[in-house]
Amino acid sequence: MGHSTKKTPKLYALLKGKCPHCRRGAIFTGSIYGFNIQRTNYKCAHCGQRFEIEPGYFYAAMYVSYAMNMVEMITMGFATYYLSDGRLDFDSLWLYVGVIFLGSLFLSPLNYRYSRIILLHLLSPKIKYNANFDKP
Ligand SMILES: [Zn+2]
Repeated sequence: MGHSTKKTPKLYALLKGKCPHCRRGAIFTGSIYGFNIQRTNYKCAHCGQRFEIEPGYFYAAMYVSYAMNMVEMITMGFATYYLSDGRLDFDSLWLYVGVIFLGSLFLSPLNYRYSRIILLHLLSPKIKYNANFDKP
């Protein structure tokens, strides 16, 4: 049999919020819409990779989060337009404001989580996947 060479797919690790170094340890505590406020673990419990690799590193995630929020707001704006049969009069202003405000509120835990995942997985050349750690 030899040693296993089965690698965890990058997409799986990305969607599940797994460590970019080993793709096994969890980046966050708790679930995305759980009762406890989700936090970012200091380091990976599986391989020891630090997530905030330098002080203030996650400030960069704010830009990712901002971009995600823009896309979401535009999508919600168009969705509201189509679902309300193209209403664009002054009275429907509050409909748009309400949908976009509540939608953004609802999506904020998702933005928090995926902005950091995108930063760690796609925008951090210092953190590389190492298959040697991708085993139980
Ligand atoms: Zn790890």
